[in-house]
Amino acid sequence: MAMKTVMADQTSTVQRVELADAHCHLDLFEGNDIAMEALGYGVNIIVTNGVDTMSNIKTLSISDGRHVFPALGIDPQHAVSMMDDEVEFNLNMIRSNSDRIVAIGEVGLDYVISESPAQLTRQHKIFEKMIDIALELGKPLSIHSRSAIGDVLDILEEKGVKSAHLHFFEGDEEHAARINELGYMVSVPPQKSAKRSRALKIIDLSSIMAESDSPAAGSSPKSVEESIRIIADIKGMGYDEAAALTTANTKRFFKIGGTIGIRKI
Ligand SMILES: [Zn+2]
Repeated sequence: MAMKTVMADQTSTVQRVELADAHCHLDLFEGNDIAMEALGYGVNIIVTNGVDTMSNIKTLSISDGRHVFPALGIDPQHAVSMMDDEVEFNLNMIRSNSDRIVAIGEVGLDYVISESPAQLTRQHKIFEKMIDIALELGKPLSIHSRSAIGDVLDILEEKGVKSAHLHFFEGDEEHAARINELGYMVSVPPQKSAKRSRALKIIDLSSIMAESDSPAAGSSPKSVEESIRIIADIKGMGYDEAAALTTANTKRFFKIGGTIGIRKI
């Protein structure tokens, strides 16, 4: 890294590794400036997730397929109150945009927000529908699993899902071992947690991505820099190495092709 800096100084250019944000919600920001700003910081790949009807529509409209890539879904929070015809509307939106979307997300289960059995049943029903459409369209899943990761992994395994991403990973070492076995991915938010650090030590290097989860966790996609620092620390890597690894993993998982290139400033 020191070598690189010296060489960069000699040629008066600074080379930055491109960064990838594997999970955020750009539709929740005002205007399009946030994606432009992220690009300015070298965040060349942003996967932005819809969570309900309006959010899915906005997600499609702000994605350009060059730097901002859309995932569409119904998340557990919105699943509990969504009527069947609106669910169908969203499934049709997903089908008719299947060539544009890189994943089905955000979908999943959240055992913190729901206590009533009826709400939990609804969450499970919608999650299964989201898995079914991912399998139908051959798309990966981006999954929310707050306090529900064991059940999420059981369901994914039962349904034979091969391509899944546990976003805001908060499992323990046992979950981490299962994720390695199943060949799934995790992404790391810009927040430190001792439990996550222990579990991440076990996760294969090829299965780790960085996310901002902005604006919920990080303030913008640029917050992946902090996520990458956390990953670098846990895995004993340099920052640039962790950045290159997480970007390569994100491109491979979401089938985002081509090299967008190393930005020179
Ligand atoms: Zn999210």
